[in-house]
Amino acid sequence: MPKSECYVTVTYEAGKLTGTIKRNQGDAVALTTFDPLTVLPDLIDTVYYENISSYVQDNYFFKEDYLKHPFFSDGEYTDRINKGFPHPSHFVHFYNAVHQINDVLTSNKKITLSQLEVFKQFYNLKFTYKIEFLRENPMYQQHELVSKYGFIKNAPDSEFQWETLSYNDQFDISGMFKDNKGIPMRFTYTCHSLEDIIFSVWHYLIMFGYKYSKCQHCDKYVANLEFRKYCHRNSPYKGYTHLSCNIAVDHIEKNMKKRKNSRRSYLSNYYPLAVYDFLNEFDALISKEVPKNVNTFYKLEHITSKQYVKEKWHKKEYE
Ligand SMILES: [Zn+2]
Repeated sequence: MPKSECYVTVTYEAGKLTGTIKRNQGDAVALTTFDPLTVLPDLIDTVYYENISSYVQDNYFFKEDYLKHPFFSDGEYTDRINKGFPHPSHFVHFYNAVHQINDVLTSNKKITLSQLEVFKQFYNLKFTYKIEFLRENPMYQQHELVSKYGFIKNAPDSEFQWETLSYNDQFDISGMFKDNKGIPMRFTYTCHSLEDIIFSVWHYLIMFGYKYSKCQHCDKYVANLEFRKYCHRNSPYKGYTHLSCNIAVDHIEKNMKKRKNSRRSYLSNYYPLAVYDFLNEFDALISKEVPKNVNTFYKLEHITSKQYVKEKWHKKEYE
């Protein structure tokens, strides 16, 4: 693997998308995995914005924990930042790219492949890619036969192998994907810069029609083929961070309803006249119109806390 290159692979298998980055690290090769659906929006979280200059890129700065992002783990970029180039000028293109991602996500813009060609010019992108399909290995069958009766040199040990496109494959790219529907497939991008890595993932998502939407629980963006209300990141809600947003939402809601019932019993015993108002306050927050995001749940937690219920409803009018 040439020093200046790294490989980004996006694999689609069994309905799941996975990503890896292969990079040189000293004399070894480092492998980092990432989630292609969340990796670009999560890049926005590696920086903070301070409006101090009329140049967009000069307003971005790395957050302290940016190294947690898979694009920065292991690679040469980390070295460059750590070795005393924290100044934005060193990352002009990167900051611009983050700004671009943010802009596209928040404005709900749709990026086409031809627009990506313009980005290629601006960001001086040089990535190339190859497409492979996982196909049955004809040598494997043969190997099984031969191994019964004798030996075979360099025998393939797996039934399937990744194959690049051949002359017989369709020339039309959408037709090719239609023909190979259901067959595991991977794109391997040869990248030469941090921007190459960013836009290679974006290229894949654009190619297959992924769209970004905001998770209504954690408020972060996620790419999907079909609209989904919640993402598969871990919930940021205290006590539920081991569950993904889409699962955590139901669990937290159940817990809130339990709290509601126990406070209702308390009020029925001591301030029965307040029960109606308490329930109204609770139900307004759990209605369909209010997103079940972290803030809503913290509000619900607050209005169902023992102390709040005691203080709020212990009033003359409810005596
Ligand atoms: Zn989420």
